[in-house]
Amino acid sequence: MDSQNTQAIEQLNKQIRLEEIRLLYGGTPFSYTASVVISLIIYYVLLGHAVSQSNLNIWLITISLVLLVRSIESYRFSKCDKHEQSEPGWRVRFYIGTGAAGFCWGLLPWLGYSHEVEYLAFIMICQVGVIAGSLSTLSYRWETMALFLWPASILLILRLIAEGGHFSNVTSFVLSIFVFFSLSAGRRIFNNTQQNIRLRIEADNRERAIELMHQKQALHLQNTPLAIIEFDIDFNISEWNRAAERIFGYSKKEALDEHVMRLILTRDSSTEAEKLWQRLLNYEAVIGTVIENKTKSGATIFCEWFVTPLTDENNDIVGIAAMALDITDKKQNELAIIKSKEEAEKANQAKSDFLSSMSHELRTPLNAILGFTQLLKYEKELTRKQQSHISEIGNAGNLLLELVNQILDLARIEKGHLQLSMEQVTLSDVFKECHSMIAPLAEQGNLSLDIKSETDGYVIADYTRLKQVMLNLLSNAIKYNVKNGSISLKVIQKENNIIRICIKDTGQGISEDLLPEIFQAFNRLNATNSIEGTGIGLSISKQLIEMMNGTIGVTSKLNEGSEFWIELPGKLNITTSIERESQPATPDASLTNEAAMKHNILVAEDNPTNQNLIMSQLEALGYKADLVKNGQEALNKMINNNYKLLLTDCNMPLVDGYKLAKTIRGQGNTKLPIIALTADAFPEKKAQCLEAGMDDQITKPVSLETLQITLEKYLN
Ligand code: ADP
Repeated sequence: MDSQNTQAIEQLNKQIRLEEIRLLYGGTPFSYTASVVISLIIYYVLLGHAVSQSNLNIWLITISLVLLVRSIESYRFSKCDKHEQSEPGWRVRFYIGTGAAGFCWGLLPWLGYSHEVEYLAFIMICQVGVIAGSLSTLSYRWETMALFLWPASILLILRLIAEGGHFSNVTSFVLSIFVFFSLSAGRRIFNNTQQNIRLRIEADNRERAIELMHQKQALHLQNTPLAIIEFDIDFNISEWNRAAERIFGYSKKEALDEHVMRLILTRDSSTEAEKLWQRLLNYEAVIGTVIENKTKSGATIFCEWFVTPLTDENNDIVGIAAMALDITDKKQNELAIIKSKEEAEKANQAKSDFLSSMSHELRTPLNAILGFTQLLKYEKELTRKQQSHISEIGNAGNLLLELVNQILDLARIEKGHLQLSMEQVTLSDVFKECHSMIAPLAEQGNLSLDIKSETDGYVIADYTRLKQVMLNLLSNAIKYNVKNGSISLKVIQKENNIIRICIKDTGQGISEDLLPEIFQAFNRLNATNSIEGTGIGLSISKQLIEMMNGTIGVTSKLNEGSEFWIELPGKLNITTSIERESQPATPDASLTNEAAMKHNILVAEDNPTNQNLIMSQLEALGYKADLVKNGQEALNKMINNNYKLLLTDCNMPLVDGYKLAKTIRGQGNTKLPIIALTADAFPEKKAQCLEAGMDDQITKPVSLETLQITLEKYLN
């Protein structure tokens, strides 16, 4: 700020100096002409009366030469531009010229000297006149005055003193006083002139700045993309710039004095405008309100308004100043984006629905494939080859089931239907379970597996889903490992109560350029077809971990191995073991149960293959069962039979499973165990079944083991 001020002062002083030198040179035509005329008159008058004619001639020549040089100098100055005139040389030369002129005038009483008193008096009068006259043209600078006055007057006074005598002494005394007063008067004139110059320059500068501001404002007003409109409290337009003409289509002439509301507001925006008006009446400025407007051609446009009330000295509102920006394109783009987002969401929804229904549809035939395969496994008369084929079918079926389950998970996550049950998960529990499930696979691949199952600590997570993610990472570490490689799992406590679980392998690794794609669904990078996989596991893992407020990542080096890590809130060295339902022991399904024979079960199922399967499974487990095709038949059948349990499909014609359960419970039969057989693995399906009055739900494909455990649970 200070440096800005100093700069401004310096600039002002420069302007003053320039003005002074201009004024000094500007006065020269008059003063030089006067000097020439006076010199000639003096010469003419003194001709024949001077003591030495040659001296008088010398004086005239000298003063003429000085005047000539100074005139040339003045002419040159007048031809210079402002910048050149500011050069200090002009000032110095002017001072020298003034001094020389003063000296010439001082020489007059010496060179033009006359013994005749009247001519002496004449010389003095001329001399005094020239001195007095110079004040007006030289007082712009104190130095120029002094340079002229001193030689001119001192030489005159000296001449008088040299002359001697009473008259000369008195005259020299009076002259000294005159010079003294002239100089002090000159000093005052100089001060006043200085002040005037300063004030004039300052005023000029201010005027120029104001003019510049007006010019800028006018330029902005005309060229801004903002429509600038002013109107009085009766809404009559008083200002309408070029942008307003362009945006609304009315010329300034057409718009002035028109009612602003009628001119550019649509009917739909009147409420909005009314609200805006109320705010203005409360002296509130309105910033960025979007209003629907109309143009001269009747087109609807959207404008963003910036409006402020104008007040008089009594703070009464006298008008409104408004600026409007046409944002129709932006608004239309926004609408288009919203529309395409909605369309994309719809397409995504359709994709999720498709995935969900496709996997649902796949579960029904899979139910038959896996179910019958399992039944066949217990056939005693099969050859070894046949048994091997059956186990191949079973493996392929299980793989397909896993894929279907993964797609279902993906669809549920995308639809936001997946619900987590967050709890403190003891690390050793998950690690032990993962170890027992993964160890046989590692053994098959001849890989060493190092999982610190005894790790003390917990994380906040969904137990089942964390296990799912870890199994995915561990099975990948096995699948993509090299012969005799190793897999290790370690846990690190990080800052802010974060636990990092790292799963490291010694496999082929992943190249750096592929790493960013690794968590994309269905992206198998460049995994060979010989390694089974779908490319969904990591995508699901990432989404699950993020839903658990965690992060997942990977570092990898080609040909050295990869390290996948999960970070979740938690702590190490704290044991909080939660009792979990122990996995049910696998029943020996090959044995038919004596007790089971006693129970009579009713099965309601409409699909012929599934009918065949469930009846065969029940028979294999030793249960006696009747089959009906829908809920209505089931209700009829139950009238004359005393069933111990009802196994029912959910989606059946006429009366479906839910209706059937509701009717049975509605009839007061609360004891009959009702178990649903559903193709949907969603938890909400189970909730729906329980709500209809059923006791439990088994998800297809139904394994013999699950069927047996469930039946035993409800029949005993
Ligand atoms: P999938 O294993 O079924 O193909 P994933 O989503 O689990 O699907 O993994 C995606 C891809 O990431 C795999 O196809 C594989 O190319 C790569 N990948 C995953 N884990 C590893 C690993 N430990 N080492 C090398 N590559 C891996």
